[in-house]
Amino acid sequence: MSKKVPYRTYLSEEQMPKYWYNLRADMKEQHEPYINPGTMKPVTFEDLLPVFCEELVRQEMNTTDRYIDIPGEVLDFYRTYRPSPLIRAYNLEKELNTPAKIYYKFEGNNTSGSHKLNSAVAQVYYAKKQGITSLTTETGAGQWGTALSMAAAYFNMPLTVFMVKVSAEQKPYRKAIIETFGAKVVKSPSDTTEIGKVILGSDPNSGGSLGCAISEAVEQAVKTPNCRYVLGSVLDQVLLHQAIIGSEAKIAMDMLGEYPDVVIGCIGGGSNFGGIISEYMADRLNGKACPRFIAVEPASCPSLTRGKYAYDFCDTGKITPLAKMYTLGSGFKPSPIHAGGLRYHGMSPIVSKLYHDGYIDEVRAVGQKSVFEAARLFSKAETILPAPESSHAIKAAIDEAIKCRESGESKTILFNLTGTGYFDMAAYMKFNDGDMEDYIPSDEELSEGFESLKEIPLNR
Ligand SMILES: *Cc1c(COP(=O)(O)O)cnc(C)c1O
Repeated sequence: MSKKVPYRTYLSEEQMPKYWYNLRADMKEQHEPYINPGTMKPVTFEDLLPVFCEELVRQEMNTTDRYIDIPGEVLDFYRTYRPSPLIRAYNLEKELNTPAKIYYKFEGNNTSGSHKLNSAVAQVYYAKKQGITSLTTETGAGQWGTALSMAAAYFNMPLTVFMVKVSAEQKPYRKAIIETFGAKVVKSPSDTTEIGKVILGSDPNSGGSLGCAISEAVEQAVKTPNCRYVLGSVLDQVLLHQAIIGSEAKIAMDMLGEYPDVVIGCIGGGSNFGGIISEYMADRLNGKACPRFIAVEPASCPSLTRGKYAYDFCDTGKITPLAKMYTLGSGFKPSPIHAGGLRYHGMSPIVSKLYHDGYIDEVRAVGQKSVFEAARLFSKAETILPAPESSHAIKAAIDEAIKCRESGESKTILFNLTGTGYFDMAAYMKFNDGDMEDYIPSDEELSEGFESLKEIPLNR
C-alpha cells in the first residue's frame, strides 16, 4: 500500500502562490466582448471606468498576461485565512465504500464562510489604492456582502450593501454580521434608487432579486461621487482572483503526487468553479493532461443546462453592459421554494465560453432534496456543515464515487467545498422536518425569461 497522505494538507506561507493565474491567456478563443447597451458597440476601457476602479477594469480586459502579481497588502490579508486546506475525505470514502480517492479544497475557513473573500479583498484594495471613497454592492444569500464588509473594514472603506429583501428577512444574522463589520445594509428593492422605486411601483411587495439589487447598487455607485460598484461573481476579474483556489489545490495535489481525474464545482455565477478548475483547465488547454470537468447547478435555476447562449444584461434593471453568456433571461426569478442558493440568471462569460466550446465535459442540474441528502451524509462523515451551494458539488462527487464503487475503478476526484452552512439553518430545518420540495421550472415558465432576450438586437 502506498504511503498514506495526510487528512489535511496545508501549504506553507512560502508555498502559497504570489500570483493569480489568468486562464484567458491560455484559452484558444476569448468570450465575446461586453457590449455597451447605449452604443451597441463593445465596451471600452473608458466605458467601464465610472463603474469599476481602474486596475480592475485593466484586469477585466487582460486576456494576455498569464500570471498577475498579487499585491503585497492583499497577500498579507490572504495570510490571515489562507492557504485553505486540501482535505482527503477518508471518512466519506469509507462511508461510501468506494475505491475512489476524494479530495476537497475547503474555502469556508474564514468568518464570511466562503471563497468570496478571495475577490472581496482584492477589489477593496484596488479601490482604496485609487482613492475611491465608498463602495456599493449587492448580496443575495449574504456571503458576498459579509466577505466584502470584512474586506471593507480591513481597508477602512465605507460600504453600502443592497441585500435582496427576502434574504435580509430570512437571514437576519447575516445582516447583523455585515453591520457588525461596519457596512450599511439596504433592503432591495428600496426607495433610495430610481430603479428600486420603479420596481416597488409595479410590485410593492416585491421580495427582490439579485438582478434587481445589482441595478440598485450600480445606480448608487454611478450617481455618488468617487464611489464604485463591486461584484462578487460572474466577471472575469472575479474568476481571476478565485484562480487562487485552483493554484493552491494544484500545488498541494502535486506535493502529494496526485492528479485529479475529475474536477467538480458548483456554479452560481461561475467564480469558484472557474477558480478550482483554473490550473487544471490550463493543462487541458495546453494538451498536458485531460481531466474531466463537471459543473453542478440547481435544477430550479438551470442556466447552463436549459439556458440560452445569448447576449443579456447582468441585472434586472438593464443598466449593466451586455454579456454573451448562458442565461435564463435577466428577468428570471427562481421559485421561492428553492433554498439552495446559486440563483443567478446568467453565468460567467468565461465558464459559458468554455462550456460552449466543449471544455467543460458535463453540467448536472440537481434537485435540492438530493443536495441536502448529500450535505447530511457529508457532514456526518467529514464533520463540516456545508453550505447548500457547496453541497451541489458534494452531490456530484458522491455520485462519481458511487460509480467507482460499481465499476471498481479508482478515480481521483477533486471538488471545491466553497463554504459553510451555518446561516442556512432555516433550509436545513425544512429538510430535517421533511418539508423540503423540489422545484423544476416548466419550459413554459422558462420561456417567459427568454422573451426579454429577443428584445436585444444582437440576439436576433
Ligand atoms: C456565492 C457562493 C457560491 C456560488 O458562487 P460562484 O460565483 O458560482 O462561485 C457557491 N458557494 C458559496 C458558499 C457561495 O457563497
